[in-house]
Amino acid sequence: MRAHEAGALHGDIGNRGPAWLRTPVDVNALVPRLWPRTVARADGGALTVAGLDVRDLAAEFGTPMYVLDEDDLRSRCRKFRAAFPDADVYYAGKAFLCRAVVRMIAEEGLFLDVCTGGELATALSAGMPPERIGFHGNNKSVAELARAVDAGVGRIIVDSFAEIDRLTALARERGVRPKVLVRVTVGVEAHTHEFIATAHEDQKFGFSLAGGAAAAAAFKILDEDVLELRGLHSHIGSQIFDASGFEVSARRVLALQAQIRDARGVELPELDLGGGFGIAYTTQDDPASPHDLAKRMRKIVDGECAAERLAVPHLSIEPGRAIVGPAVFTLYEVGTVKFVPLGAGGGPADGRAYVSVDGGMSDNIRTALYDASYSATVANRTSPAEPLLARVVGKHCESGDIVVKDEFLPADVQPGDLVAVPGTGAYCRSMASNYNHVPRPPVVAVRDGRARLIVRRETEEDLLALDVG
Ligand SMILES: *Cc1c(COP(=O)(O)O)cnc(C)c1O
Repeated sequence: MRAHEAGALHGDIGNRGPAWLRTPVDVNALVPRLWPRTVARADGGALTVAGLDVRDLAAEFGTPMYVLDEDDLRSRCRKFRAAFPDADVYYAGKAFLCRAVVRMIAEEGLFLDVCTGGELATALSAGMPPERIGFHGNNKSVAELARAVDAGVGRIIVDSFAEIDRLTALARERGVRPKVLVRVTVGVEAHTHEFIATAHEDQKFGFSLAGGAAAAAAFKILDEDVLELRGLHSHIGSQIFDASGFEVSARRVLALQAQIRDARGVELPELDLGGGFGIAYTTQDDPASPHDLAKRMRKIVDGECAAERLAVPHLSIEPGRAIVGPAVFTLYEVGTVKFVPLGAGGGPADGRAYVSVDGGMSDNIRTALYDASYSATVANRTSPAEPLLARVVGKHCESGDIVVKDEFLPADVQPGDLVAVPGTGAYCRSMASNYNHVPRPPVVAVRDGRARLIVRRETEEDLLALDVG
């Protein structure tokens, strides 16, 4: 947690708050890096996206809804491909997956990571070429592995000795030779501006490098010679702004690559450096561009390969959040506004407005789960009113049901206003729940003045259909 978040979360606001909360803001302005590329304010003050007025979208599809700017998503795919021209770019489907998005990323030349049978089924049903799918997971079932092998999935990222045995048995039965990567836990955990490098990694994913398990897994696969070992894989964190963590992980994983060469005379042809590239959720965030990240990562890998006298392997990366996160905003309708005084003065500078919207932790759990920060704006109009420190909260029976911890909204924010929260493309709809029996919102893709429903809203009938008692 960053310092400004700690202060903001614990109510240390008003004239004692962190600097950014005291900085006067223009509540009508849009900071471009927070919003999908086609979002603008129309002359009347309402937000438009792909030329569509959000008031019309709300009227047609209802609120809350996720609005996906298709041009924005596609341009992010292209930026990653241009930045990593000779690497395979896997979109990490767990960030958000539906058939329309599978088709978009496939058309843009990306590969796709899945980590369950359900994600695999979605990918295959949308026509994703199986050889461009990578299958992750620390506990893939035998049924899931069999499905992946039978479908001809391009890479299976093996995560345990039990999985190697299961996959080897399946491959022998079928007379096939699945291509695999070994997931290595390198003892680096990276988030935002910090990374922690330890000798050991205390987590459920992968084979430990320091304990020798990763080398043993690679030797086992090579010696049994049933699976085709294509390379090593490491994934060090999420919402990473600084490439330094990749430097340590690349050094460690390439040292293992050299150890395998020395022991078995094999230079593995591929290296997957994972995902975790950060995005801007608030004005406080300023992540590196894919281009700059690629430059850093390429230099790190080239340098380490030279030091280990290794040929530079074919690289893969796995961005999830950085592809879909900024391409989506959530559109809510305000239901109630309460002013809660916190300080002695009782004036607007000494309290906070609780702006309740018609969704909440069921469509965005990240604030409650990760203490994540978001931004918001009133979307149906501009306002001449003073900025008011607001907290956007949901409608659930839970006081931690917060969507946006701190944001300046116009002091005249009122029931019936639309509030838009940017940066909700990743890990929001995909982690959505039916808490309080709230149906999950739809996803609407917009492009060139047209709106297309790609995931429909759940209904009460959908909820009751599962309840067969
Ligand atoms: C989650 C995950 C990713 C994607 O992470 P982002 O933070 O969304 O970029 C990539 N690779 C693996 C193995 C993951 O588990």
